[in-house]
Parts: sequence; structure tokens; C-alpha cells
Amino acid sequence: MSKPKVGIFGLTGCGGCQLEILNLEDQLLDLFAAIDIVHFTEAITEHSDNYDIALIEGSVATKHDLERLEHISKIAKVIVSIGACSGIGGVNCLKNLYGVEKAKELVYGDKKEWIDAIETKPIDEYVKVDYYIRGCPPNRSEIVDVIRSLIVGKIPEIPNYPVCVECKRLGNTCMYDLGKTCMGVVSRAGCGARCPSAKSGCEACRGFIDDPNVNAQKDLLAKYNLKIEDIMGMFNLYNACKKTDRKTI
Ligand code: SF4
Ligand code: SF4
Ligand code: SF4
Repeated sequence: MSKPKVGIFGLTGCGGCQLEILNLEDQLLDLFAAIDIVHFTEAITEHSDNYDIALIEGSVATKHDLERLEHISKIAKVIVSIGACSGIGGVNCLKNLYGVEKAKELVYGDKKEWIDAIETKPIDEYVKVDYYIRGCPPNRSEIVDVIRSLIVGKIPEIPNYPVCVECKRLGNTCMYDLGKTCMGVVSRAGCGARCPSAKSGCEACRGFIDDPNVNAQKDLLAKYNLKIEDIMGMFNLYNACKKTDRKTI
């Protein structure tokens, strides 16, 4: 049986998701034995348009990103979003809060016309995404699980329950009891409650669960005399692209 041909692409992002693939170390050789990587923006110089599966890192933040994404989507049979930038827009969406023109002016001054930036969006605003590998950066084990599932034709399992579940299983002290804030009530688990376990509030880098219990988040804030505005900074860090009334999450 021929090996599936895989392209790994980077749009606007820091390259950290691709780096996590390279950091798979021991597992990397097994992975390379099972798939044929024909394009890897961060790792190989050869480029090929002959791929079945495209793993796409980064958001669409420039016209060039959009052209590349459209090109990839015409070729790939399966599109996998990898990381927060690609799946939910991530930190690149902070630009949208200023407006594209203002952001260009702030960063590039009188050279702003050289920049082809557009409003930042996650890739599924433009193309159909089949699977998502969440996080900033994603867990290496999850990257491997998703690729393995694709090879054997299984649907990868990505948790759809909140970070609080993992956090409570670990017996962590709640960040609110430490005088901090946290979005674990509504955020998608799968990271092993990485941040609360390190005494830092969850900022929803894996996005939100499909049917978030917004009332539970509000009740938690009320219990600690906090308002939605007190967590808007956390919300916006990765999720400013989310189309929603931000007053209600
Ligand atoms: S999701 Fe995080 S690690 Fe991945 S490209 Fe975006 S900023 Fe970098
Ligand atoms: S709110 Fe945050 S710190 Fe508290 S239990 Fe949930 S995930 Fe853990
Ligand atoms: S705890 Fe929240 S912010 Fe931290 S890695 Fe997990 S989902 Fe991302």
C-alpha cells in the first residue's frame, strides 16, 4: 500500500506548531516511515503539489496567505488545522481589535503600504477543515494521534469537555481561590490542564468547547466578585477572531 502523501504548510504564525512536529524526536522516524512528507515549509526545501493530506499552521492574515490556502485546498483531499492560529485565529487576531489599517500604521509607519495585511481569520473561514489539532502550541502526543488516525482511516478523537475536568482530576487548587482568573470552565480540554497546573489561568488557546456553559463561567466570576470585563484580556489573547458578542463570551 502506498504511503499517504502529506504536506505541512505555514501561513501567518510563529512556526511553533511546525517546530513541535520536528520536536517529536523518537516518534518522528516512525511517522516519516508511515507517511511521505512531500512539503514541509519549516524543514525541507523541496516543494511538491502532490499531496493528499495538508496540515496547515497559521492564520490567514495576508492576501498571500489566502492565495496559498486556496491553492492548497484545491489539491488536498483532507485538511487538518494545526494550532490556535490556524483553528481559531489565535494571537494574530489581536490585530483586528485595532483595525487592519491602524495596526499597519502602528507597526510599519510610513511603510505601511508595503504590507498586504488583511483582517486575520482562522482558515475555516475560507476552506472546509476536516480535523483540528488544537493548542498553542499543540501537544506532541495529539499531533501523533491525529496523524496515526488519519493513516488508518479513523476519526481522531479531540476532547469536547472543559479544561476544568482535567484540572479537577489533577487535584489542582482553583486559580480563583489563588486570586487569579481562568477560562477553564468554557475552554476545550486536551492539554492536561497545562496552565492551571503551573498556577496560571487558562486562556483558551484550544478554543472553546462546542456548547460552553457560559452561565457556569458567569457564576464563577460572580462568586469571586468579578465581571466579564475582568477576563476579556484572557479571552482576546487567542480568541479575538471569534464572532460573538464579547460581553456574553
Ligand atoms: S498556534 Fe502558537 S505555536 Fe502555533 S503558529 Fe500560532 S503562535 Fe505559533
Ligand atoms: S477554573 Fe481553572 S483553575 Fe479552576 S478548576 Fe477550572 S480549570 Fe482549574
Ligand atoms: S490550560 Fe488553557 S491556555 Fe493552557 S494550554 Fe490548556 S487550553 Fe491552552
